[in-house]
Amino acid sequence: MSALASGSSTSTTKSTARPDEPPEGCPPDVEQLGRATWTFLHTTAAYFPENPTPIQRTRMLGLLMALPVLYPCSYCAQHLGERINAHPPDLRGGRVSLSRWLCERHNEVNERLGKPLFNCSIKSTDERWKDGPSDGRCD
Ligand SMILES: Cc1cc2nc3c(=O)[nH]c(=O)nc-3n(C[C@H](O)[C@H](O)[C@H](O)COP(=O)(O)OP(=O)(O)OC[C@H]3O[C@@H](n4cnc5c(N)ncnc54)[C@H](O)[C@@H]3O)c2cc1C
Repeated sequence: MSALASGSSTSTTKSTARPDEPPEGCPPDVEQLGRATWTFLHTTAAYFPENPTPIQRTRMLGLLMALPVLYPCSYCAQHLGERINAHPPDLRGGRVSLSRWLCERHNEVNERLGKPLFNCSIKSTDERWKDGPSDGRCD
């Protein structure tokens, strides 16, 4: 089983930014891949149009529906597929409803892993993934 499939990190010889991550230059483990994927998905949702065209909706649907088939963590992909079947995305609502839908799917994973749940209001998801906090520390 690969490090990604087992979720383990492999080396103790090099320091990293996070102590639980594989050393720089090594393949991602489940946590690293997850953080990178959520970053991409939430950011893409935050910048999805308010009123997407049919082609934009189709392409986004293709991206989301590819995850249960292609995401390279088999149990993550399987769970996500089950959750998508239970809650199919409706992309006609544009970035606001997509951001909420994705936040809810991420919260389902958080709940399974015993992590804190995220506030899925558009204010919270935009602050985290698009605008940054109002104190300007990310500007
Ligand atoms: C589709 C998918 C399925 C996964 N399934 C599994 C699994 O079955 N088992 C497993 O062990 N790991 C799974 N993972 C990985 C897991 O979700 C985490 O990415 C990983 O454990 C690292 O967690 P983290 O605490 O660093 O933060 P992450 O959960 O990666 O979150 C990154 C950042 O997103 C923000 N955030 C948190 N929750 C939300 C939310 N609901 N909406 C918006 N922003 C939020 C926070 O600022 C957080 O710091 C999956 C990842 C993906 C992309």
